[in-house]
Amino acid sequence: GAAGTYVGRFAPSPTGLLHAGSLVAALASWLDARAHGGRWLVRIEDVDTTRNVTGAGEAILAQLAACGLLSDAPVLWQTQREAAYAQALQRLAERGLAYACACSRSDIQAAPVQPGRLPGVYPGTCRAGLNGRPGRAWRVRCGEGPNEPALRWHDRWLGAQQQSLWAEVGDCVVHRADGCWAYQLAMVVDDAHQSITDVVRGADLADNTPRQIHLQRLLGLPTPRYLHTPLVLAPDGQKLSKQTGAQALHLETPQQAIAALAQAVRTLGLSPGLDQDLARSASVPELLARAVAAWRQHAV
Ligand code: GLU
Repeated sequence: GAAGTYVGRFAPSPTGLLHAGSLVAALASWLDARAHGGRWLVRIEDVDTTRNVTGAGEAILAQLAACGLLSDAPVLWQTQREAAYAQALQRLAERGLAYACACSRSDIQAAPVQPGRLPGVYPGTCRAGLNGRPGRAWRVRCGEGPNEPALRWHDRWLGAQQQSLWAEVGDCVVHRADGCWAYQLAMVVDDAHQSITDVVRGADLADNTPRQIHLQRLLGLPTPRYLHTPLVLAPDGQKLSKQTGAQALHLETPQQAIAALAQAVRTLGLSPGLDQDLARSASVPELLARAVAAWRQHAV
């Protein structure tokens, strides 16, 4: 995007502290914003109140600050935004694009797999109405049939991508049976609210992109550009995540922040050899300035 119009974001869920994998997403989104002369915002995605860890949001912000990564606007907390999500759902429901669903997980597992669809894809049972059963969740129509063309998009890192909403996704939950707003709806509503032009995040989230683009289209919201970064892998080749036991980063000293940032730069594959050199940076700001220059060269 043109200088000045770029707005990027880092949107962690406060389910634990930053680890080596989440720092890569934070750093990449910050570097891309700076390389474009843009703004960078932090949003705490605390909608899933069943998974929030008390104090984790504030602790993540402190870790980011230790790495010199500061939001250019007040941090947005999604639990403050529930009225906006309710309004978006209402707009979809009024147009018949969202519907109440009474099905439990076991109902969905028991339903026969439809030809051409992946197992586990919701078969759309409640599109036809609740038949007297109590509504539990709200779903949005995603995919209208096997003949619908795949949704295609361009990822700035991964290149041409496509996914069939009908075969691979199915009608997605936007308001859960436990009362929580779903990530997909909250993210799309807030990216538009914050005028995000570029989503930069880990490749584990890439396959959410088509349903998010679909939701943006249904709600008449702009679709940002997307860039999905490589993931940090655990020694066994699995994605490093809180679920696979990734260690929280210790960032109490500038030396620890420099080492963690240099490792994140290595994961991003910015100019070979730079990471060795970066680890010897005298300060966090010096390291960040050199990483921005390397990201510019990278020109994704
Ligand atoms: N909150 C999501 C997560 O921590 C990321 C959302 C996004 O970047 O779109 O996995």
